[in-house]
Amino acid sequence: MQLDRILQSQGFGSRKECRKAIREGEVKIGGVVVNDPFQEYDTTDFTFELNDWEWEYAEKVYIAMNKPPRYECSHKPKHNETIYNLLPDPVVLRGAQSVGRLDVDTTGLLLFSDDGQFIHSISSAKRQVTKSYRATTNQPVDDEQIRKLLEGVQLVDENEPSRALQAKRVSDKQIELVVDQGQYHLVKRMIAAAGNHVDALHRFAVGNLSMEDGSLPELELGDWCYLRPKHL
Ligand code: URA
Repeated sequence: MQLDRILQSQGFGSRKECRKAIREGEVKIGGVVVNDPFQEYDTTDFTFELNDWEWEYAEKVYIAMNKPPRYECSHKPKHNETIYNLLPDPVVLRGAQSVGRLDVDTTGLLLFSDDGQFIHSISSAKRQVTKSYRATTNQPVDDEQIRKLLEGVQLVDENEPSRALQAKRVSDKQIELVVDQGQYHLVKRMIAAAGNHVDALHRFAVGNLSMEDGSLPELELGDWCYLRPKHL
C-alpha cells in the first residue's frame, strides 16, 4: 500500500495532510526518515514513527483501557472530560468507539474499536457477553441481598427480572457480580433493588478479558493498551 494511504488509514488525516507530513520529514521507517509519499510498503508487521511514537499498522484497532472516574464515555460530554481525550488523536480520528459505556464515576475495563462487528459481538444483548463488576456499597452486604441478585430483581422499565449470573459478598461492603446484559445503570439499579446502594463501581472483566487474571497487561487508571489477536 502507498505510504500516504497507510497513514490516512491509520487516522493521521487526509491524504493531502499525510503527504505533507511525509514530505516534511515527519515519518520514519526503521529509524530512517522517508520522504516519498507514493512509496509502496507491505503492511504485514509494518511499523512507522510519527509524532514521537511508533505505530503499528492495523487494519482495525482494538484497545483496552482502565477507565478512570470523572470521564464521560461520550464525544460530547456534558459535565466532565471525554474519555476519548485519553486516546491518541489518530485512534479517535480513525473512528474507534467505546464498546458500550461505563458511567462517569465507574472505573475499570473499557474496550474501544473501529471494528463494527467486534463492537456488536460484545455489546449486543443477544450475545450475552459477561461483564464482571466489584461494587462497594453504602451498607453491609447480607445473604438476603445476594439471594435477590441471584434470583432476579424487577427493575422499573424492564420486561423481565434482571438476574446476576454470579454474585458474592467479598467483604463487609463489597459485592462481586457477573451480568450478561448492559442496560443503563444496570448494576447500580440491581443492587438498589436488592436493598443496598452502590458507592463505587469497578468493572474488572468483559467476557474472557480480565484485568485481574493476567489476560491483559497491568493497566493503571487511565492507561490503555492495544489488544492483540491472542486477546480477541
Ligand atoms: N452498571 C452500572 O450501574 N454502571 C456502569 O457503569 C456499568 C454497569
